[in-house]
Amino acid sequence: IPKGEVRTRFAPSPTGYMHVGNLRTALYTWLIARHNGGKFLLRIEDTDQGRLVEGAVDVIYNTLRKCGLDWDEGPDLGGPVGPYVQTERRGFYGKYAELLVERGHAYYCFCEKTESEEDSGEFDRGDDPCRSLSMEEARAKVEAGVPYVIRQKIPKEGSTTFHDVVFGDITVENSTLDDQILMKSDGLPTYNFANVIDDHLMGITHVVRGSEYLSSAPKYNLLYEGFGWEVPAYIHCSPVMRDQHNKMSKRKGDPSYEDLLAMGFLSEAVVNYVTLLGWSPKGEESEREFFTLSELAESFDVAGISKSPA
Ligand code: GLU
Repeated sequence: IPKGEVRTRFAPSPTGYMHVGNLRTALYTWLIARHNGGKFLLRIEDTDQGRLVEGAVDVIYNTLRKCGLDWDEGPDLGGPVGPYVQTERRGFYGKYAELLVERGHAYYCFCEKTESEEDSGEFDRGDDPCRSLSMEEARAKVEAGVPYVIRQKIPKEGSTTFHDVVFGDITVENSTLDDQILMKSDGLPTYNFANVIDDHLMGITHVVRGSEYLSSAPKYNLLYEGFGWEVPAYIHCSPVMRDQHNKMSKRKGDPSYEDLLAMGFLSEAVVNYVTLLGWSPKGEESEREFFTLSELAESFDVAGISKSPA
């Protein structure tokens, strides 16, 4: 991808406070864009209304601003730039789900079987009669007012391979993937669906996210294939750990960026330290311990991102 055309996005769900791991994802995402003279977008993924935490969006804005992570683009709301907010884009997603249904990669599901029955092995979604309803049959039910969700139709055979910049090629058997919900009964898309649609519509070239999403990546890949869209480069980052076995967690008392400032650490020091947790410069800079944000932008090369948890 030519340098100036790199487009990245930080796509937080405002479902909690911003821990050091989230901040590091934001930093890497911003650094990749700035290093390449590309664009960095901020997209608030708030379609999961039940999980929203009040004030979380403001924490995200404030943290990014204080760290110096400015974002580009966003809808013109007459004020400062952006960001994109998914609930303000709710009208976009339904027609893409319909398109997938027409192409046989998704289906209307009217079934009362729940995910928990599926998880417990009592119910195999492959036997779900909804999977084989025709578009006409499904439309008739929708018109009759039967509640529904739209699910991804994962092929029951074969395997899916995707490439990650940090982890290399990964192949999974399709039989291990679930028919995840794309559109919920409240008419809003799930995070998993809106994320793929927006990454495509916003021309994202590099998707940077936590490695907890590696297991979802094959399903995203199948969505891209279903639409015939080009898959972006994936850069999954290993977690920041509080100890050998556990990730950083606010509940366990691990500090957020704001907490660190309140303890007296300077923002620049936190930014430098968090970036170097899981990234190291190559060559003659490999021993260097302090960088300003703009020096980081100059040096940041994805090849230096580590596979091991920090
Ligand atoms: N909304 C997801 C989160 O907050 C974003 C994952 C991604 O960047 O794709 O973790």
